[in-house]
Amino acid sequence: MSSSIPYGRQDIQQADIDAVVDALQSDYLTQGPRIAEFEEQFSAYVGAKYAVAVSNGTAALHLNALALNVKPGDKVITTPITFAASANCVRYCGGEVVFADIDPKTYLLDVQKVRLLLEASPKGTYAGIIPVDFAGRAVNLEEYRQLADEYDLWIIEDSCHSPGGYFVDSNGEKQHCGNGNFADLAIFSFHPVKHIACGEGGMITTNNEELYHKLLALRTHGIVKDESLYTNSKDFASAEKNSQEYPGWYMEMQELGYNYRITDFQAALGSSQLQRADQGIQRRIEIASVYNDAFENKKYIKGQSGVVPGHAYHLYVIEVDDRLGLYNYLRENGIYAQIHYIPCHLMPYYRGLGWKEGDVPFAERYYSRCISLPMFPSLTDEEQHRVLDKVNEYYG
Ligand SMILES: *Cc1c(COP(=O)(O)O)cnc(C)c1O
Repeated sequence: MSSSIPYGRQDIQQADIDAVVDALQSDYLTQGPRIAEFEEQFSAYVGAKYAVAVSNGTAALHLNALALNVKPGDKVITTPITFAASANCVRYCGGEVVFADIDPKTYLLDVQKVRLLLEASPKGTYAGIIPVDFAGRAVNLEEYRQLADEYDLWIIEDSCHSPGGYFVDSNGEKQHCGNGNFADLAIFSFHPVKHIACGEGGMITTNNEELYHKLLALRTHGIVKDESLYTNSKDFASAEKNSQEYPGWYMEMQELGYNYRITDFQAALGSSQLQRADQGIQRRIEIASVYNDAFENKKYIKGQSGVVPGHAYHLYVIEVDDRLGLYNYLRENGIYAQIHYIPCHLMPYYRGLGWKEGDVPFAERYYSRCISLPMFPSLTDEEQHRVLDKVNEYYG
C-alpha cells in the first residue's frame, strides 16, 4: 500500500531544524534580532522597502485594515474565491464586504467587474479593493492601481499564494507580488501549506513609510518607543519637575493595538525556508507543466494551457465534470485533493449579511467544478504519475 498524497505539504530540511535550534538556544525566543533579519530578507526577496512580520496572515490582514483606517460602513471589494480571511479583515473593523465576480479564465477578481461596480455608484462609495493572487497567479496590479487612483481607493494585495510570483506590466517589466509599486500594502502567510512555512506566521510589505510605522505600533499593542512621537510631558514620564529627558523605561501606548508578533524561532525557520523559495517555485512550475501536458487533450478536464509567466503555482486547479466523484475516487486511492474555495459569500456568516446564491455567478459555477490536485515541491515524479493515472482511470 503506497502512502497517501496530500494537496500540499511543507518541506522541512536539516538546515531549517538547525536554524530553529540556534534560535531556541539564543537569548531571544521573541522580540529578538531574527525577526528584523527575516523582515529584511523578505522585503529584499519581493522588492519592497518595508516588511513587518506578524503572527499569521489573518493578523496581517487585520493590521492592514486598521492601518488603512477601515471604519464601520466602509465598503471594500474583494473576490469570493479566496480564503475567508481576505474578506473577514474588513468585518473586523465593521466595514462592509462587496464580492465581485472572477474572470472565469484566470479565476482572479475581474477588474472589469470591479470597474462596473465602481461606475454604478457615486465616487466615494467604496474605500478599497483586496485583490488576491489566487493559486499563485499574480493579479495585474497596474490595472487595479489605475482604477484605484480614479476612484480614490486603497489596495491590499493578498499574496498568500504567491511569494516570488510576478505579473508583467505594460512596459514589459516584471512586477513581483508584494513589491509595493502598485498596492498600498501586501500580505503573505507562512502557514505550512503555503510556500514558506513558519508553523504560523505572516508578513506585510509596503513602500509607504507612514503605514509602515503605524503597522509596527499596531503589531505591539499600539506602543511607541520614539521620543519624537511622545505626547505626555517629560515631567510626567519621569515623575520629576523640570525634566530634561524621558527616562529609560518610558514608552507610550498611543492607540489600541494588539499582540500580533511572530517569535524568533519562527522567524529563523522563515529565513531558512526563504533561501529555498525560488527552488520551490521552479519545482512547482515543473509539476504544473507535467499536469498541463497530461490534460491538454482530455475533454473531460478543463486544465490550464501553458505555464503562465510569473505564476507561483501555490495550487494546481482543474475544472471537471462530476467533481464529487473524482474527489471521492482520489481519496479512496490515498490522494487528498482539495477544493479551493467554497465561495466566501455563500458561507453562512456572509449569507447572514444578505448574500445569496446567484449573486456571483462565475465564482459559483467555478466552485461547482474546481478541484486542486497535489502541488508541492517535494511531490515526486512517481507520486505525480499516480495522481495522473487515477484521474485518467476515473474518467477512462
Ligand atoms: C492562508 C491564507 C490567508 C490567511 O493566512 P493565515 O496565516 O492562515 O492566517 C489569507 N488569505 C489567503 C488567500 C490565504 O491563502
